[in-house]
Amino acid sequence: MQSAQQLTPHLVRVVAGGPGISAFADNGTTDKYVKIRFPEHDVTRTYTVREFDPQAGTLTIDFVVHGDEGIAGPWAARTKPGDPLTCVGPGGAYTPDPAADWHLFAGDASALPAIGAALEALPTDARGAAYLLVEDITERLDLQAPAGVELNWLFHSPSGSDPTLLADAVAAAPWPAGRVQVFAHGERESMKALRAVLKGRDVAREDLSLSGYWAFGRTEDRFQAEKKEPIGQID
Ligand SMILES: Cc1cc2nc3c(=O)[nH]c(=O)nc-3n(C[C@H](O)[C@H](O)[C@H](O)COP(=O)(O)OP(=O)(O)OC[C@H]3O[C@@H](n4cnc5c(N)ncnc54)[C@H](O)[C@@H]3O)c2cc1C
Repeated sequence: MQSAQQLTPHLVRVVAGGPGISAFADNGTTDKYVKIRFPEHDVTRTYTVREFDPQAGTLTIDFVVHGDEGIAGPWAARTKPGDPLTCVGPGGAYTPDPAADWHLFAGDASALPAIGAALEALPTDARGAAYLLVEDITERLDLQAPAGVELNWLFHSPSGSDPTLLADAVAAAPWPAGRVQVFAHGERESMKALRAVLKGRDVAREDLSLSGYWAFGRTEDRFQAEKKEPIGQID
C-alpha cells in the first residue's frame, strides 16, 4: 500500500500499488469492486475501486471509517504506507449509459466511490440528479459532475439510522420524462425504501442498479448471509 489519506473525518483514501497491480483485469464498469482479504480474521470485505490507473500501477479505494466496530473500517483508520493489501476481483455491473435521458444516483458514504466514478464517466451534456446521504457537512466531497447533474447532499447521523431519508428526497423531487437510468446503493433498509418509491416510477429493469452495500447493525458476513433470508432481499 502506497498511501493513506484522510479525505474527510469519516473517509480514508487508500492507494495500493506494487507488482501485484499488473494482475488486475479492469472490467470497465464504474462500480467495479474487490473483495479485500483480512487473513488474521479469516474474512473478506467488499470495496469499490474508486480508480484504477494502469499507467501509474495504482488502485484507489475509499473506506468509510465508521467507528471501532468491524474489521475493514478500523483497518483503514490505522493503516500506513507499506502495509499489505490483498484483494480478489473485480466484480461490477454498472456503467452510465450516455444514451439515457436522465440519471438518478442515490447512496450513502459507502456508495460515494461508485457514484463519484460514475459522475466522472458521464458525458458533459448528461442530465440528472444525485442524492448523497452523509453524516454531516464535513463529509461532503468535491465531486466532479456535469453541469446538468444536480448534487443534493443530505445529512444524518449515525449513518444508516434513518432508512427513509433518501427515499423521501427522491419521492419529493420532480421526475423527468424519458428514459431514466438509476444507480442506488447503500444501507440495505434505505435501499428497500427507495425501491418502494421507484416502483411507482417508470424505470426499466435493465436501467435499475439498486442493492444494499451494508446493513445497519450487521457485519458484512451477517449481511451477506441474510441475502438468502426474506429480510435480506430487495425485490
Ligand atoms: C459492491 C460493494 C461495494 C462497496 N464499496 C464500498 C466502498 O467503496 N467504501 C466503503 O466504505 N464501503 C463499501 N461497501 C460497504 C462495505 O463492504 C461494508 O460497509 C462493510 O460492512 C465494512 O466492513 P467492516 O469490517 O468495516 O464492518 P463490519 O464488520 O462488516 O460491520 C461492523 C459494524 O459496522 C457497521 N457498518 C458497516 N459499514 C458501515 C458504514 N458504511 N457506515 C456505518 N456503519 C457501518 C455494521 O452495520 C456493523 O454494525 C461496499 C459494499 C459492497 C457490497
